[in-house]
Formats: sequence, C-alpha cells, structure tokens
Amino acid sequence: MTSQQFLALFLSLFALHFIIERVLSLLNVKNVLAHRHSVPEIVKNEITPETYRKSIEYTLTNARFGWVSSICNVLITLALLFSGLLPKLFQFLSDKGLHGLHLGVTFFALLAIITSAIQLPLEIYETFFIEAKFGFNQTTAKTFIMDKIKGIFLLVILGVPFFYGLLWFVEKTGNFWWIWATAFVIGFQFLMMFLFPIFIAPLFNKFTPLEEGDLKSSLEKLADKCHFAARGIFLMDGSKRSTHSNAYFTGIGKARRIVLYDTLVKQMTIPELVAVLAHEIGHYKKKHIVKMLTISSIFTVAGFFILSILINWQPMYEAFGIQTPAIPLGIVLFMFISGPFTFWLSPIMNALSRKHEYEADAYAVEMTGENVSMESGLLKLSEKNLSNLNPHPLYSSYHYSHPTLLERIRAIRSLVY
Ligand code: ZN
Repeated sequence: MTSQQFLALFLSLFALHFIIERVLSLLNVKNVLAHRHSVPEIVKNEITPETYRKSIEYTLTNARFGWVSSICNVLITLALLFSGLLPKLFQFLSDKGLHGLHLGVTFFALLAIITSAIQLPLEIYETFFIEAKFGFNQTTAKTFIMDKIKGIFLLVILGVPFFYGLLWFVEKTGNFWWIWATAFVIGFQFLMMFLFPIFIAPLFNKFTPLEEGDLKSSLEKLADKCHFAARGIFLMDGSKRSTHSNAYFTGIGKARRIVLYDTLVKQMTIPELVAVLAHEIGHYKKKHIVKMLTISSIFTVAGFFILSILINWQPMYEAFGIQTPAIPLGIVLFMFISGPFTFWLSPIMNALSRKHEYEADAYAVEMTGENVSMESGLLKLSEKNLSNLNPHPLYSSYHYSHPTLLERIRAIRSLVY
C-alpha cells in the first residue's frame, strides 16, 4: 500500500464514522419528536407530563451540543494531523536538547495538556450552560479549576512514569516489545484498580462509610445474604458537582468498593437502595469487571501488535507529511488515526455491557426476592436524570452501555423469583 492509498483509506473511514454517528443522532431526534406528545404507556403513572417535556428538551439540547462537539472534534483532529504541528513540536523539543526517553515523554505530556486544553471550552459550556440550565450543575468555578489542577498533578505523578515505562519497553525490548508493552499496560491497569478507589477517587470526592441506622442495617443484611463484605460500601458526595445520581462498583481485591452517590440516597427509598446495591453486587458476583478487563487486554495486545508493524512503516508517516519517522511520533500518530479503524468495536462492547446490566438486574431481583423496588428505583433514576425515554433503537444499540428504561422494566417484570 502506498502512502496515498493509506491516506485515502483513513479519510474514507474517518468520513464513514462521522456520517454514521450523525445519521444516528438525526434518527434519534426524529424518534424523540415523533413521540413527544404522549408519555410512554408503561411509565404513564410515574412520569409526569412536565418531567417528560423536560426530558425531551434535555435530549434535544444534548443532541444539538453533540453536533457542535462532533464537528469541533473533526476539525481539531484534522488540524492536528495535517497542520504539521506534531512533527514541528517534536522537532522543537529535540532542538531544545531533549533526546531519548525524555524527548518522547515530554512530547506525550505536552500533547496530553494541549488536547485537553482544546476540549476545555466545550467542557465549560456543557457544565456551566447546559447542565446548569436543566438544574443539574453544582460545580463551582473553584471546584472546576481545582479538578483541572488535580488532573495535571495526576498526569505528573502517574502519567509521566507510565509514559517512561511504556516508551522504555517499546524502545528497549527488541522485536517482541509489543508483548512486553502489553504486560506492562495490564500490570499498570491492575495497579490502578487498587490505587483508584483508595488514593485517586478521594482526591476528587469525599467517601464516607454508611452511618448507623435503618439504611445501613438494610444494606448490610443484603450484603450478608450475598456474601459481600459490607465494609466496602461507601457514600460519595456526588452533589459537589452535579445532582445527577448514580452508583458504581470499582476496584479489585481488598480495594473493591461499591459507591452510592449522596444524591441517589436522597432520592430513593431504602428498599430501592437495597435493590441498587444488589445490582452492583451482581456485577461483582457475575465477574463482569474481570470479563471486561480480559477483553480490554485482548484489544491492548492487538493494538500493540499492529503498532509494532506500523511504527516502522514509512507510508504511515508520509501520509501525514512526516519526513523523519521517530518512535514517539509514530505512537502519537497511531493514537490519532486509530479511531476510524476501531470505532465499530464500541457498539459491540456496549452490547456486551447491556447483557451484563440485564444479568445484574436479574441477580438483584433474585437476591431481594422481589422486582418492585428495582423497577421503581430505575424509574426514579430515569426521572431525576431526565433520561431519554424514546431513543431510536439503532441509536441506543450503538451508544448505550445500559438498556433503556423500558427495556429494563420489561425484562425485570418477566423475571421469576
Ligand atoms: Zn449496572
């Protein structure tokens, strides 16, 4: 393949990716508008016309924002790839006397800062305009700025050593470096599974064990029944940034935790929270985290193998106007151009994730011995977060990591317990 052919292939897939996502967004908006006059039958008694109207407005606003951010991202990616910025920046750092691993790591770190700085205006608009307009935003300017500073701090203490390690494996371990690099990345991921819940997440939020009371005793009773150590259940001050509510499972081994947002605890009844906890324990019991990690490891090794071929392949560099290939440049180029080649993996992973959600719901119903609380809990979650009740089926099967509310309710009602 010549560099011209490679460039043509990249641009075609790049356009295809953009068109698919934009068409899906149009279909989704059309579907939402077509159903805007009546609340879906199955939730008619729980969701008021007023909330329904608001959820439609929120969906449409997000869809419009999706157009802006998608077009911005296309322009930014094309500008970064074709403006010659990447080789110029690399050359500039090299002229400043940097070389070897130091040169590569500085190049990576600077690009990480530049790309997140470019995204900043969109992020500010989303947080302080869209989310604020719908009453979700609680983030103050101070919290927002502190988050960015903490992000830079993490880039320095975790990102930089990671880049050094990765580049060392790529440059110093011979032809089979892609195997060593995979082992390194997987090892780093495992380390993060321990560090994230205990050291990283607490930089951004307060985590407190449950207070004595009815909620604690109900959750502990359920955890006991599921043989899950209840000391791993924490409350988090999610309301510091947003009134959106959620719960999640994180970490492995002794660092594993189930986190309930304070906003969720405020919105739900105790039986509903017990059902949510059972759902999260379900993810653990059904080994969903291990399964997802295994799959991502397969992607990692495949990605590094392909990179090991491309990194010495002159036409990849020539296609983007780079005259003198270098390993750090090759890695960055590969990261920027891989999206259009791999975007189809994301709907596949979402389908798997939705399967896991159904399994966790089924586990929750089995362990709580009833399906009323899980259903009403999900309804509240959807109502308070103004979730779209009428996504287009193609849109939700492509983008959604969770089944839609109506799909989940139907599945829950069909369960025997
Ligand atoms: Zn889940």
